[in-house]
Amino acid sequence: MQLGIRRIGAFALLAGSLLAITGYAQENPAPPVSPEKQCVLDWLSRPEVVEKFGKISDAIWSYAELGLQEYRSSELLIKTLEAEGFTVEKGLAGMPTCFVASYGSGKPVVGILAEYDALPMLSQKARTPKQEPLVAGAPGHGCGHNLMGTAVSAAAIAVKEAMEQHQIKGTIKVFGSPAEEILISRPHMVRAGLFEGVDVVINNHTSSGFTTSYGVNGSAVYSVVYTFTGKTAHSAGGPWDGRSALDAVELMNVATNYLREHLHFTHRMHYVITDGGEAPNVVPDRASVWYFLRNTDERLEEMYERVLNCAKGAALATGTELSEVRVIGAIHQAHENKGLAELLYQNIQLVGMPQWTEDEHQFAKALQKELGKAEKGMPTEVGKLGKPAVVYTGGPSSDHGDVTLVAPTATLRFPGGVPGTAGHHWSTVACGFGSSASKGLNAGAKVMAATAVELMTQPESLEKTRKEFEEYSKAHPYKSFLPPDNEPPLDIYEDLMGRFRPAMEKHYVNP
Ligand SMILES: [Zn+2]
Repeated sequence: MQLGIRRIGAFALLAGSLLAITGYAQENPAPPVSPEKQCVLDWLSRPEVVEKFGKISDAIWSYAELGLQEYRSSELLIKTLEAEGFTVEKGLAGMPTCFVASYGSGKPVVGILAEYDALPMLSQKARTPKQEPLVAGAPGHGCGHNLMGTAVSAAAIAVKEAMEQHQIKGTIKVFGSPAEEILISRPHMVRAGLFEGVDVVINNHTSSGFTTSYGVNGSAVYSVVYTFTGKTAHSAGGPWDGRSALDAVELMNVATNYLREHLHFTHRMHYVITDGGEAPNVVPDRASVWYFLRNTDERLEEMYERVLNCAKGAALATGTELSEVRVIGAIHQAHENKGLAELLYQNIQLVGMPQWTEDEHQFAKALQKELGKAEKGMPTEVGKLGKPAVVYTGGPSSDHGDVTLVAPTATLRFPGGVPGTAGHHWSTVACGFGSSASKGLNAGAKVMAATAVELMTQPESLEKTRKEFEEYSKAHPYKSFLPPDNEPPLDIYEDLMGRFRPAMEKHYVNP
């Protein structure tokens, strides 16, 4: 875009004022900051805004609701967005806790993905640097999703402020996405058409660093429960009359563990036995095992078939029936857009790492000591822009992979955690609450909002990401891995959440 001299002058002035606000190093000058971008940064820097969203994040942390049970968490975000004039559609794609909040109208349409679900078994006291559950056995926010849904809401509201003050045309949409931890919602949201007409999507995750990347990453997944049905009998009196469904589960697991040798090294495979009978003296006539099968997009379906054969073989061997193969979720790898990642990265450099207090460093060091990690405290510098891996070696997954194949998408990783802590672990729960978490989510919100207004006000930036995406899509057309009639598993955490909710309610921190 050609800029008039007067406009450049205004940019330079604003860039100067931002240097003063953020303390951004003089020798590494920030790129010019447009008035629209400055508007979102200023709004998010207001102390009352930082405080408000910190409290919302802490509240969601205390609710720690499991996938598809996030009633309070989603309601809090919905109320926050509605109070700012967003129009919210609720209960979408067959999931009561799924929502889309929109502000503005017409093109361009910029989406941001919001998550808010917790993980089982990770309850932990806030900012306590050793393992100490708040409610023993209860869920906890071991992946920082309390910060993410909150950061996205803050970012979207900041964009709304800029849209009002600078007459920016377009639509900002928050995609309230349940049950990311069990990889459920996005394929259903895509299938329901929620991303139709969306030009570009910003995804995000908490991290102990501040960075982004592009290219293919993570694993595609089939999450499947295999259920076997046999016959009960007295385990001592007449075991020959029984057919043990648990035997079938165990034989299936033996077969899949032998299968590992002959799967490509890109795979990951792990399981839990969710039903193994009730008592040793009754031959179990029903047993279930829940698998995550992970691989590349290209190798996933073949792996699914081979594991299914292990289940069939186990049923044949034990004289039981493989009575149900229930696909809980099925997702693609993430295919992150380079143009969008570069835009995010420029804004990461602009916003910079938050300034941490001595207390925050001390807490981080205490946690690092407990974990046997280097006692470095909080991170002080932003990371490098991640490049695609040369040899892919598998790893964790995110169900936003499906979104990356229907709209140009990239993922911001913003600082909310302490370096050295582990994901899906009590240490992440311990540091996901309070001042450093709040500062981290605020920095993340700034980058997302700045990137969104840039995409809305600079057509060439949006065009670049769209062009790259359309080119990429030719070789990677989207086809869901979900079976055609698959429904979201609304019941999956109903009992577990119900069991812990009353004890957890006593510890709710309301905003
Ligand atoms: Zn996560």
